[in-house]
Amino acid sequence: MKSFFLLFSTFYFILSLSAQITDPVATEVWEPEPRHITFNAHNVPSDAIVLFDGTNADAWVHADGTPAKWKVENGTMTVVARTGAIFTKESFGDAQLHIEWSAPDVIVGEGQGRGNSGVFLQNKYEVQVLDSYQNRTYSNGQAGSIYKQTMPLVNAMKSPEEWQVYDIIFKAPVFNADGIKVSSATVTVIHNGVVIQNHTEIKGTTPYIGLPQNPAHGDGPIQLQDHGNPVSFRNIWIRKL
Ligand code: MG
Repeated sequence: MKSFFLLFSTFYFILSLSAQITDPVATEVWEPEPRHITFNAHNVPSDAIVLFDGTNADAWVHADGTPAKWKVENGTMTVVARTGAIFTKESFGDAQLHIEWSAPDVIVGEGQGRGNSGVFLQNKYEVQVLDSYQNRTYSNGQAGSIYKQTMPLVNAMKSPEEWQVYDIIFKAPVFNADGIKVSSATVTVIHNGVVIQNHTEIKGTTPYIGLPQNPAHGDGPIQLQDHGNPVSFRNIWIRKL
């Protein structure tokens, strides 16, 4: 009864406080002022780190640290089969990633064999890249899936003659001092302007075979996968959050 009275009186106290605010200025916050972002001719935000602007692959290396051997021409960077995945030299945690990709115009293969690549966040968590335009495969392996974990909400693919755009907002997982995961990574993926992953929990790594694993790690590079298909990329930039 006593606690009920306390709760009741606290509620009325808060109500009376808010009722006393009559000046609109009282709820305005002026400091700090959000930093102003500008945009270059290609609409890249001024605080972004450009990972590929169409001229060279200097921001990328192969697993052994050698320069990326993928083909750069006409403002695009294309997988050269069997040269291996490429990795950013720089590592990232929480981030916003913009990346445009295109499956080969000439349709070769089917299912997982058509226009397969991938964007691995922190070198561990794959957002699938696949030509999923009129190309059925397992739903948690199609374009925009968190590979073998979470299917996209919809299939927002344009035809392979067109470019696909991913905007990815990633929150890194957190591990305690004992290496135990205390909060999962989350990811939002916008594909061609459509939300296809909405603050999705990433359960762990995204292996081809088996269940997600959760090894402790810190910041990691972005990896683009060499799955043997000549997928092209352009206009890649990232903002640390
Ligand atoms: Mg893949």
